[in-house]
Amino acid sequence: MHLKKMELKGFKSFPDKTEILFPKGLISVVGPNGSGKSNILDAVRWVLGEQSMKNLRGEKLEDVIFSGTEKRKEMGYCEVSLIIDNSNQKINLEYTEIAIKRKAFKSGESQFFINNKPCRLKDIKELLLDTGIGREGYSIISQGKIDEIVNGSSVHRRKILEEAAGITKFRYKKEESEKKLSSTKENLERINDIYKEIE
Ligand code: ATP
Repeated sequence: MHLKKMELKGFKSFPDKTEILFPKGLISVVGPNGSGKSNILDAVRWVLGEQSMKNLRGEKLEDVIFSGTEKRKEMGYCEVSLIIDNSNQKINLEYTEIAIKRKAFKSGESQFFINNKPCRLKDIKELLLDTGIGREGYSIISQGKIDEIVNGSSVHRRKILEEAAGITKFRYKKEESEKKLSSTKENLERINDIYKEIE
């Protein structure tokens, strides 16, 4: 499984539809200061559901949308797609290629898609559990991240190791089941109360 391609349109400094191919192996992105190298990484974070504008180096939600230049009008929306090669079926879907897309409008509306089908952010999060690709995965190591890991709490380090070891999915499922169990218990108590009242 690897990231094959990214498509951007209207995202930060990329107003035109732009395709970036990622062949297997080590890739370097080089360019002059301010040419948009970090914006590419911001786009990866954003499509994976990053909500914190601070982590996207902006302030307002619409800061990810192309804001225009002297020669070019601002845009009303942006979209980013990540195309992932899934020929080894690491992601539990019967497709050899998976496209994850996020689209956002100036109005603040944001939409997510898996293979062009609308979905929730939760679906993307669940799909990528234990692949290391998620928003909180270890596949994006930004400046200062190593320091954060080394100096961070043992709980934080454990989370990263669990994601790499493939345990996160089970922890997530356990938490979801516990939530369901607790709501079922509450419902049962309510039914018992009603039953007693009727008796
Ligand atoms: P450096 O090497 O200095 O770190 P970089 O290549 O990583 O630079 P980025 O930080 O990715 O560059 O890009 C910065 C550029 O993106 C700036 O010119 C900024 O004006 C532009 N930019 C950021 N957000 C938007 C936006 N919403 N609309 C238009 N341009 C934007």
